[in-house]
Amino acid sequence: MKLGIVGLPNVGKSTLFNAITNAGAQSANYPFCTIEPNVGVVAVPDKRLDKLAEMYNPEKYTPATIEFMDIAGLVRGASKGEGLGNKFLANIRESDAIVHVVRCFVNDDIIHVEGSIDPKRDIETINLELILSDMEVLDRRIDKTQKMIKADKKYQAEYDFFVRVRETLDAGKSARSVECTDEEAELLSSVSLLTNKPVIYAANVSEDDFKGGIENNPYFKIVKEIADSEHAGVLPICAEIEAEISNMDKDEKELFLSDMGLQESGLDRLINECYSLLGLISYLTAGQPEVRAWTIKKGTKAPQAAGKIHTDFERGFIRAEVVAFDDLMACGTMAAAKEKGLVRSEGKEYVMKDGDIVLFRFNV
Ligand code: GDP
Repeated sequence: MKLGIVGLPNVGKSTLFNAITNAGAQSANYPFCTIEPNVGVVAVPDKRLDKLAEMYNPEKYTPATIEFMDIAGLVRGASKGEGLGNKFLANIRESDAIVHVVRCFVNDDIIHVEGSIDPKRDIETINLELILSDMEVLDRRIDKTQKMIKADKKYQAEYDFFVRVRETLDAGKSARSVECTDEEAELLSSVSLLTNKPVIYAANVSEDDFKGGIENNPYFKIVKEIADSEHAGVLPICAEIEAEISNMDKDEKELFLSDMGLQESGLDRLINECYSLLGLISYLTAGQPEVRAWTIKKGTKAPQAAGKIHTDFERGFIRAEVVAFDDLMACGTMAAAKEKGLVRSEGKEYVMKDGDIVLFRFNV
């Protein structure tokens, strides 16, 4: 899973990206690497996995991970190929979701490319570039659908829908803001539009606003209104504070956060929100030599979940032995959970739940 970080220059993207990569590098437990200078992999924080590690004391601890890509340089005119425009759009196309950083901090020392702090204008500037690129892609699909109507009238509804999406783009709105039936949503996702990708607006507020409560920040309110209007996520964050935290060890970090009345860092929240924005959940495997979180889409059935570990597990699937995380914790050991009948035997139709601890039985 790959998330692209976008935003105008000087809004705090690199600061946030560095905090992300630093946080990964700091926690020795987490596998972390920088694949390319602008791509980093971070662990999805999961307290359940930590508890399992305490219980099993395994050699290996493998959390779920997400990839972040710092997509710098998206400016006005990018869709016309200005600057390195097309490259950035291609990077966004590769992303499963977008983290759109919006400048909500005032600091006259840090130049704003558009001359002032104005989150609405900034969001529209970036989105317009994506919309212009989407228009080209959508127009090709509209042409194709129009030709198909000549052969078969049943494509008329599809055509009408795409025209409606085009009108939304014409109005300067993202494709994700189109109201859709389930069927239409599926149709829409068959055209790979940038403005239909899930997005989280990360409102980068000042240190003072973050500490003092962001309800008072008028810029954050604007970002939230925009996010709500287009089915997008929103999260206040202070990139500078996150950069600071990312240099601390675990105890220092906890103390720092509790001083601010927080339980988790903005970064951890961002990672977790991205995970759920993408409709992802984790199931866990626990024992020796490894405790591990496996990423699946919400709604995945047991055999397909098993296939994540190995294709043989899916092909030869017999059943899954499943215990809920809370049940295992309440019992203290797997043996006790079994004795109490809390380890269930589930078949092919079982829909996996977040936090299931699983052992798959399969034929080879
Ligand atoms: P980018 O061009 O979007 O990658 O922006 P940078 O991350 O390079 O940030 C531009 C400048 O803004 C740097 O000098 C940062 O230190 C500063 N900056 C970033 N985030 C914050 C923040 O939350 N508060 C303040 N005061 N400055 C920030």
